[in-house]
Amino acid sequence: MSDQQPDTVAPARPPVVVAGNVAVITGGASGIGLAVAEALIGEGMSVLLADIDAPKLRDVEARLTEDGASVATMICNTTAEPEVNALIEYALEQFGGVHIMFNNAGIGGVGDAWEDSMDLWHRVVDVNLLGVVHGIRAVLPVMQQQGAGHIVNTASMAGLGAVPGIAPYIATKHAVVGLSESLFLEQLATGSPLGTSVLCPGFVKTDLMDKEPDAVDAPLAQFTNEVLRAGIEYGIPAGDVADQVVAAIKADRFWILTHEDMRQGPAERMQRAATGTNPTLPELGS
Ligand code: NAD
Repeated sequence: MSDQQPDTVAPARPPVVVAGNVAVITGGASGIGLAVAEALIGEGMSVLLADIDAPKLRDVEARLTEDGASVATMICNTTAEPEVNALIEYALEQFGGVHIMFNNAGIGGVGDAWEDSMDLWHRVVDVNLLGVVHGIRAVLPVMQQQGAGHIVNTASMAGLGAVPGIAPYIATKHAVVGLSESLFLEQLATGSPLGTSVLCPGFVKTDLMDKEPDAVDAPLAQFTNEVLRAGIEYGIPAGDVADQVVAAIKADRFWILTHEDMRQGPAERMQRAATGTNPTLPELGS
């Protein structure tokens, strides 16, 4: 899908989507991570897939290898910094570099943010926020030494606007947008050869909600749970997101907003902020 923002930024940095280069992808056994892996394999790149879902990872590795791809896999829980460090070391061992780091593993975190135990918050913050932080910290020295590399962090449209009923998800996705923008600006300020993008998808048809509870006690959280399930069921294919991710890396573009019809929401929100107007309820059902 190339109805994205125009690719006006000429890539001044060394290109990274190059046959023989290496991508590391967390949450790579499924959904958006797997689709991006397939797109990069299509560009001739080697890919190291990391995930906590061992059976899925095994199946994916077998299928991709049979198709002749240069692929490795590693069971890696991104919430544990040593495991993510080991992931990057494994990429160096197997393939000799890391040119694209896709910090993508994430969970929905359905539950009652204010009355359930704090475990919910810790779980969502650990995966959706600290997992991304671990990936960046592990790969930056390698990319800096290479003098080339691009980091893509998966946030969400939930990182550019709020809905009621999933506060931990909203909070962590806002945090991923913020830290990604900080990293981008640091690279700009230092004349770094490295690039950064933030991926903000709307609904994408994946397995994201399969691991979440069907029912939650809090009525609002339950309502949002059902809306998210329905949205994802009718979401765009992960392959469309992957095409946009690859195009954005090639164009050295920071923002990757996959849904044309959702781009106005964040602008209107900031307009409300600028004019001191209170938030309004989003049209969750549409
Ligand atoms: P998915 O469930 O198909 O894929 C996520 C993968 O991450 C799974 O394979 C899962 O096993 C893995 N994972 C979960 N926790 C992990 C951990 N601690 N360490 C390593 N791997 C872990 O779902 P998806 O929709 O492809 O999700 C990918 C990313 O996209 C997530 O960050 C999600 O928040 C984001 N996202 C998805 C949508 C959507 O509509 N599907 C929309 C916006 C953002």
